[in-house]
Amino acid sequence: MPAALPLVLLIEDEPHMRRFVTATLRAHDYHVVEAGTARDGLAQAAGRNPDLILLDLGLPDADGLEVTRAIRRSATTPIIVLSARGREHDKVSALDLGADDYLIKPFGVPELLARMRVALRRAAVPAGAPPQSCFELGGLRVDLVRRQVVRAGQEIHLTRTEYKLLATLVRHAGQVVTHRQLLHEVWGANYVEHTHYLRVYMAQLRHKLEDDPTRPRMLATEPGVGYRLRDEPS
Ligand code: CA
Repeated sequence: MPAALPLVLLIEDEPHMRRFVTATLRAHDYHVVEAGTARDGLAQAAGRNPDLILLDLGLPDADGLEVTRAIRRSATTPIIVLSARGREHDKVSALDLGADDYLIKPFGVPELLARMRVALRRAAVPAGAPPQSCFELGGLRVDLVRRQVVRAGQEIHLTRTEYKLLATLVRHAGQVVTHRQLLHEVWGANYVEHTHYLRVYMAQLRHKLEDDPTRPRMLATEPGVGYRLRDEPS
């Protein structure tokens, strides 16, 4: 049991969804406050200073994207967006505006709890602290300080671009990184529309790092959104 239970702000207008999520989180040792509108959500985000925000994108009085933008003006509180199916564009916009992750409804409880753990863990690193310099999962080891990649005891040679792409995913391990973020960090601001670069280089990385590149276990595709380096065995 942690020293203090994390406080979660749930901004969601559907009462049954709110009841379900609140009951689930309380059963897993979270404090929960609820808001049914964007206006109330913003007031509670400012007034209660929650540790994490779960944000429905379809709210009655404002778009969840507007809420994300408004919260990010003053706070770095992790935001996980709850999105209805088929609203790919909204999810991507929310992530680009500074949301940390998203879940598509209906989502499973273990998935919700796992994403929340990742978001809270990342937020727990003090500002200015060096990012995690080593990543290890299932025989893969990436050392960002030594710029070394080892798979099953063998050192792997990557091109500079392949390495930059992998290193970006390592720095966000467990989290989805949008196409736009990846293109910006690896290729630069002028290349954010060149999604096909990512397909090519991701295929090369999978070929070098995955046991079966056609069924990746570490370098996961988030359809229409981006990629995620899994930080727990799948
Ligand atoms: Ca809604």
